[in-house]
Amino acid sequence: QHAKINKRDYQIYDTHIDKNSIERFQLINELKVAIEQSQLVLYYQPKLNLALQKITHVEALVRWVHPSRGIIPPDTFIPIAEKTMQMDALTRWVMKEAMAQYHRWQAQGIDMCIAVNISAENLKDEQFCYWVIDTLAQQHVPVSAITLEITEDAVVSDPELALKQLSLLRENGLTLSIDDYGTGYSSLAQLKQLPVDELKIDKSFVQKLLQNEADQIIVQSTLQLAHNLGLKVVAEGIEDKATLLWLTERHCEMAQGFYLSRPLPEQQFNDWLSQSIY
Ligand code: C2E
Ligand code: MG
Ligand code: MG
Ligand code: MG
Repeated sequence: QHAKINKRDYQIYDTHIDKNSIERFQLINELKVAIEQSQLVLYYQPKLNLALQKITHVEALVRWVHPSRGIIPPDTFIPIAEKTMQMDALTRWVMKEAMAQYHRWQAQGIDMCIAVNISAENLKDEQFCYWVIDTLAQQHVPVSAITLEITEDAVVSDPELALKQLSLLRENGLTLSIDDYGTGYSSLAQLKQLPVDELKIDKSFVQKLLQNEADQIIVQSTLQLAHNLGLKVVAEGIEDKATLLWLTERHCEMAQGFYLSRPLPEQQFNDWLSQSIY
């Protein structure tokens, strides 16, 4: 009787472990090794300065080169890193790699500012911004060369702590950008308090801009709002030339998207840049 109940329990338990959660479980364990053994790689996507018509910035976007699964996109493993306390190690790896890349470009005469994405988890850690400031100094990377991209949700959970951390980073000369602007849940009251330099309009408003009048109204109003608040605007998700021109005419500061280039690994990015008209 007893054994039979046990067996039933096992069967119930079994049906709950579907293929996805086994895969997830494996990824959790493997991610630690991946960070330690540098199975991560940064891809770089250019940002075009529209006034200068020159590539002055790039965004660093992490990928996991898994030994058997191939390249895993960040949307698959960043949420796992966030839930399993691995975001600190991951962001530190990304920051250090971006700093090394900064010097590799400098050595080639390429003056490039690099944007790194920061997770909500990083802003919950009081030590994080001190680490960033100290490490930039140690690695001789000017703070003005680094932008941190932060999504609105990073601020919503603990606005007071986030505000403190962001202020410290900005007072020390880093550039701060609100990523995926327009998709989050923060209020304008919260946003106006944030010590940031730029808004990055989410690609969902930009990708089909010229086919969608509502998107045009949203983007136009965001440009006005941002400029009146003294903020710069980056548009992400530009997929055609007409959208690039539309944004240029409306004094958007920077443009990013597949129309210019997809994110590329270092060597391919350098090849792209050397052949670019910008
Ligand atoms: P994000 O920071 O908003 O980055 C933009 C994403 O949109 C990138 O996807 C990029 O490849 C994609 N994208 C850029 N231009 C276009 C376009 O014209 N059309 C379309 N359809 N997509 C475009 P990716 O590289 O897969 O990154 C996804 C997200 O993962 C990022 O969104 C960011 O939130 C997160 N992420 C990436 N790297 C890191 C990292 O090092 N740390 C943290 N915390 N998050 C990261
Ligand atoms: Mg970003
Ligand atoms: Mg974004
Ligand atoms: Mg995004």
